[in-house]
Amino acid sequence: MAYVYDEQNIFAKILRGEIPSNPVLETEHSLAFNDINPQAPVHVLVIPKGPYVCYDHFALEASDAEIVDFTRTVGRICKMLGVQADAAGDGCRLIANAGAHGVQEVPHLHVHILGGRMLGRMLAPAK
Ligand code: 5GP
Repeated sequence: MAYVYDEQNIFAKILRGEIPSNPVLETEHSLAFNDINPQAPVHVLVIPKGPYVCYDHFALEASDAEIVDFTRTVGRICKMLGVQADAAGDGCRLIANAGAHGVQEVPHLHVHILGGRMLGRMLAPAK
């Protein structure tokens, strides 16, 4: 089964400039902006500009150039915001929800970069 991309999703509208975002960094193939409902002092979303539904879609079908650009953008954002996990930073969590079981709300690939506080264990028990 093919991945089906919804051109009307909110991040597609951000990419088309139809609704505003608060960009942190823009590159040839990627855009990073602050989450509208931050869950931590640092909460940035990194998205590819291409029409990819989720990480597995992107990993399987994006070009090498898009994948390199996206991955480097995640690294650059971590460093820019001081949440890299080196000797100078306190680390962060990257989350890429996908599909129904991943409880993905916006069907355009986005990696959440969360940091700036202790985040606790990765998963809460399912309710
Ligand atoms: P998901 O559950 O799909 O992984 O996360 C979607 C994220 O997108 C949520 O954290 C939500 O706050 C964020 N979000 C939804 N709509 C907007 C928007 O219009 N602008 C921004 N900056 N973030 C949004």
